[in-house]
Formats: sequence, C-alpha cells, structure tokens
Amino acid sequence: MTTQLLLTSSGMVNNIWFTVHKGLTNKMNNKTSVMMSHTTLCEKRSLDKKSICGRCYSRKLSAYRKKSSMTRYMEHNSRVLRETINEPFTKLSTPDGTLRYNSTGDNITDSEVINIFHHARVNAQLQCAVWTKNFGLYHRVMKSIKPPRNLNLVWSMSRLNSFKFIIPKGFTKSFYVYSKAEILNEAMTQARQQGFSVVECQKQCASCNKCYTNKSKQIIMELIR
Ligand code: SF4
Repeated sequence: MTTQLLLTSSGMVNNIWFTVHKGLTNKMNNKTSVMMSHTTLCEKRSLDKKSICGRCYSRKLSAYRKKSSMTRYMEHNSRVLRETINEPFTKLSTPDGTLRYNSTGDNITDSEVINIFHHARVNAQLQCAVWTKNFGLYHRVMKSIKPPRNLNLVWSMSRLNSFKFIIPKGFTKSFYVYSKAEILNEAMTQARQQGFSVVECQKQCASCNKCYTNKSKQIIMELIR
C-alpha cells in the first residue's frame, strides 16, 4: 500500500508551501493550493484598465502585506519551482481530495510548468487544477510533455468583460470575469449561442468543484469579487 502524507493544515512538503484555506466566506474554504508570486506580466497587465489584473485581489493583498508570510511563501514557491525540477514528490492527501496550483500569481518558466505536471502526475489520487493566463508558455511545454489526466488546465482571460470566447487548445476550461451581473448574463447568452457550455461561478469551490473534477470543456464566468 502506498503511503500518503495527510495535509490537514498549511505546511511545507518537498520544499513547497501548501496552503489549506480557511474561512467560511473564503471562496477557497477547505481547499488546498500552491500560491505563486506575481510575475512581471501580472505587473504589466495591472496597468491596463481593461484587464482583470488591475483588480487582482491577491496582488493587492500581497502588496499590503509585503513582509507577510503569505508574500514570503508565494515568492518561495516560485523560486523553488523555477530553479529546480523538484522530483521525487511526496504523495499527498488533502482535506477534500483536490489541489489547486497558482491560487495566486502565475508561471513564467518551463520548469514551473514541468514541476506542476510532474507533481500532479505523482499525485494521481488528487483531482488537480492549474489556473494560468500564460497559455503560450503552457503550449510550448505541452509540445514535449503532456499534462496528466488528473490535472485540469484553466485558462484565465485577462480582459474584464470580454465577449471574445475561446478555450485554448489543450485546456479544459476558460475563466472569464465580469464587472456587472447584466454584462455577465449577456456574455453567458452569447457564449451559449456560440456553442459553449457555460457555468456561472458561485464562488464556493468546496461545494462546486467543477474546475477540479469536471473534465468537459467549459467556460466559467464569475461576477467580480
Ligand atoms: S466554478 Fe466552482 S470550482 Fe470553479 S472557481 Fe467557481 S466555485 Fe470554484
């Protein structure tokens, strides 16, 4: 029988910091994630008023808490996953059997993506999902390494209120954000008319889990937080 390390609270495993999120009003309550630091692309996009990056809650939070443990762990994880191919990874058991990569920040190097693919592959018992805006990087890596079947690739559209609907090749889902309910409703209608399966995010991952467990191609639409 293979042993798994049970993660009931946040902690370091394989020199990676895993956050077990707590708080009933927290969208990620009871979820486990790997936070990454914000990239130069995040900073650049944050200056664009039409970009969701300018309204990024985790960027604001980490800016307020420059010396906090949250910021330190985000930077630590990015540094570790960028600098080394980090195998062998320990098999983990998380409170709800799922794991999210990039709950903050994003990836800019091949080695981060390769490490995420390897980590999810070793943890085939978990339902995993990675969020990224950087599909060019993922496409490049996927030419030589396929993502494991238990990892959903979720592409985040950086533009707020976008009506240009795509699910990039190789991705399972796309994630769109809208500033008002009426814009979101119109976007849902138009995307469905174009043949997409659309889900409105209710911001309660623990009771929804679609981004982690549902393998069909879908567009997820969220009203801005
Ligand atoms: S659709 Fe469900 S799983 Fe995906 S982010 Fe929203 S609440 Fe979480």
